[in-house]
Amino acid sequence: MQPNDPILKLRDVQVHFPVKTGVFKRVTGHVRAVDGVDLDVRRGEVLGLVGESGCGKTTLGKAILQLVRATQGTVTYSGEDGETELTSLDDAGLFRFRKRLQIVFQDPHSSLNPAFTIFGSLEDPLRHYGVKTREERRKIVGDLLEAVNMRRESMDRYPHEFSGGQRQRIGIARALSIEPELIVCDEAVSALDVSIQAQVLQLLMELKREKNLTYVFITHDLSVTEYLCDRIAVMYLGKIVELCDAEDLYANTLHPYSQALLSAIPVADLDKKSRRIVLQGDVPSPVNPPSGCPFHPRCRYVVDRCKTEVPELRRFKSAKGEHMAACHLIDQPLAEQPLRTESP
Ligand code: SF4
Repeated sequence: MQPNDPILKLRDVQVHFPVKTGVFKRVTGHVRAVDGVDLDVRRGEVLGLVGESGCGKTTLGKAILQLVRATQGTVTYSGEDGETELTSLDDAGLFRFRKRLQIVFQDPHSSLNPAFTIFGSLEDPLRHYGVKTREERRKIVGDLLEAVNMRRESMDRYPHEFSGGQRQRIGIARALSIEPELIVCDEAVSALDVSIQAQVLQLLMELKREKNLTYVFITHDLSVTEYLCDRIAVMYLGKIVELCDAEDLYANTLHPYSQALLSAIPVADLDKKSRRIVLQGDVPSPVNPPSGCPFHPRCRYVVDRCKTEVPELRRFKSAKGEHMAACHLIDQPLAEQPLRTESP
């Protein structure tokens, strides 16, 4: 196993939730939360998963961990003991893989039981995975708290006694407790003040280096991903529309949706501010997504073909390796395309 080999391979992953209506709860449609994702997560990387709220990034993160099961497609884990298709395992079969794949949630309130001390919350996974004596568990929890720059004595206090940033550190300590290989950070710093965000991000990066972790970093905030991520996947309506090296995304943005997202990042430069691309309308419903390119009702470059043909995620040349994007018009620079003059 080499660094950069895939730790996870996702192939045509779909997560569709049934929409039930009426007294008899008949299924009248499906929310296509994730709609055919192909993606490799490389060992040791920080992969950003970005997009507006409702684009499917959190559901995809949960599908990676098998916290929601894919309705179609496969998620394959690759480790020392070979490849295992997680999507074909039942809950008992998944038990030994859950240890390797963990999550840090946005809201540490929801992941820490207010009735339990910090030790009570952190010892639970340890007990599940065979750390038998209480003494041993207290030693490990103390070490974990120190690893996230907190005092060992904090373990006997309750969640409400800590600030948001401290609670998020505790959430990270809990994710680390069973020594995972990959952590999905789901909007892990979004609820924190900017100064605290920076501290938690720095902590995450230090822990990654020390423990050889792989992160899937889910966020709607592209200003966070630029310095943190090795690669970034941009999602729109359950699909990946652009995937490339993080630096390349900022320097050589290909997809019109990514261009709009990036243009919305606050910058001090007044000239750049004036170039913000304002997207028209809301994200369409994932129950009934638009035909053709899902972004076409909001795209300023739309042409007739976009309304009927789904663009494939294709590879483009890049100095930084693979740069993929799903847009019919990318063979020529987008700036040369005519801007739309009529409403879709
Ligand atoms: Fe816009 Fe068409 Fe490209 Fe979709 S395929 S992003 S609608 S130009």
